[in-house]
Amino acid sequence: MSADTSPNNSNRSKRVLILASKMGYQTRGFAEAAEKLGVGVVFGTDRCHQLENPWGDDALALHFEKPREAAREIVEALGGAASENSVRAVLALGDRPTPAAAYAAEALGIEGNPPEAVENCRSKLRQREVLRAASVPVPDFFAFETAEDLNGVVARVKFPCVVKPLSLSASQGVIRANNRDEFVRAVQRIRSLLESPEIQVLREPGLERLLVEQYIPGREVAVEGLIDSGRLRVLAIFDKPDPLEGPFFEESIYVTPSRLPGAAQLAIEDCAASAIRALGLSSGPVHAEFRVNEDGPWVLEIAPRPIGGLCSRALRFGQQGMSLEELLLRDALGMPGSDLEREGAASGVMMIPVPRSGIFEGVNGMEDAERVPGVTEIRITGRLHDYVAAWPEGSSYLGFIFSRADSAAAAEEALRGAHARLNFRFSPRLPVEHPATGRIG
Ligand code: ADP
Repeated sequence: MSADTSPNNSNRSKRVLILASKMGYQTRGFAEAAEKLGVGVVFGTDRCHQLENPWGDDALALHFEKPREAAREIVEALGGAASENSVRAVLALGDRPTPAAAYAAEALGIEGNPPEAVENCRSKLRQREVLRAASVPVPDFFAFETAEDLNGVVARVKFPCVVKPLSLSASQGVIRANNRDEFVRAVQRIRSLLESPEIQVLREPGLERLLVEQYIPGREVAVEGLIDSGRLRVLAIFDKPDPLEGPFFEESIYVTPSRLPGAAQLAIEDCAASAIRALGLSSGPVHAEFRVNEDGPWVLEIAPRPIGGLCSRALRFGQQGMSLEELLLRDALGMPGSDLEREGAASGVMMIPVPRSGIFEGVNGMEDAERVPGVTEIRITGRLHDYVAAWPEGSSYLGFIFSRADSAAAAEEALRGAHARLNFRFSPRLPVEHPATGRIG
């Protein structure tokens, strides 16, 4: 029998704190789920602080790059620890707010991941070090200062390799290099990206260093999970059926259930559970990426947060199709219903790639694409007449295509069919774009 998932009047006095850099579709999804449950929401964000409440959501203005300070400010703004206010749970959306969420939970005296565990995840270098020390399979790696003489660095690199910044997300600045020349060009390109005003303003730590690691061939999967008292519950394994072989790694198609053999899926779950234990994560949502080849699964990344953007819409739970946001809120607040299983149908989402940098002028073929059997929704999120950057400088997609079908193969085919019918229009941005960096000179 399914749990009673109706809202409960006793929830009215409960609030959840949601920390997010972008106040957009994902935060709205949580606000809607909270409303449905009769739970209040307090937002905290580090977006533009100059304006007074410009989005009308009374979000607390925070600096996520200083997580201890952000936690102090949260406690002060809420008027004390959880016993003195009604905030009962904290959720971080996106990587940047995850440390602030952990310190805030600790300061408020409510459930959360230990700050150290979250810090272990936040730097790609530290995560590799912790996992390697625990014998969890990760690519060989080392870090170097961007100011170092590259001749010395390149002598240590085994090709093919992947070079990446320590703390960005969404594959921004992640580049594969197959030889010395490609490596030198990749480092220069990432260095320019990290020196750009858009990245400098984030004040991320570690921008003066890069991580270089062995390129792991194989199939890639993403795991969406929930951690309860340190134990992982897998909500979905998504296959990524497009070959992600570089040189850049923007995401495209996610399809669940996975078509990997059962044994391979179990190995991924085991590997995820070992990684979570080694990092010290104890509760809440987790999003993880793996490569799988003849040596088994390799951890690419473990992030203590839910899947980003609009992708959560590919997941529905129970017979009523509960959203991931509602499931996570129920879990965080200890409400019944968070144990529902994912629906039976296969489901897919395509993050629509940016074919080239330019001014996004619109899209043709929407009606045709929406009519493709299995396609449930197409959302264009790129803003008209705005500049969009292709990867590796870019980090946001043009939109999302969703599908549902009897089989994963059919869900994938629907996404490809719809995407083939869409024609995105761009105009060049003047003055001319810098050819090496994609930045505007
Ligand atoms: P981000 O957190 O910015 O998404 P990741 O380190 O997860 O950065 O890398 C993004 C993508 O780049 C991965 O999903 C994968 O496709 C590719 N990638 C990263 N590191 C490797 C590697 N060592 N071997 C093969 N592919 C990699």
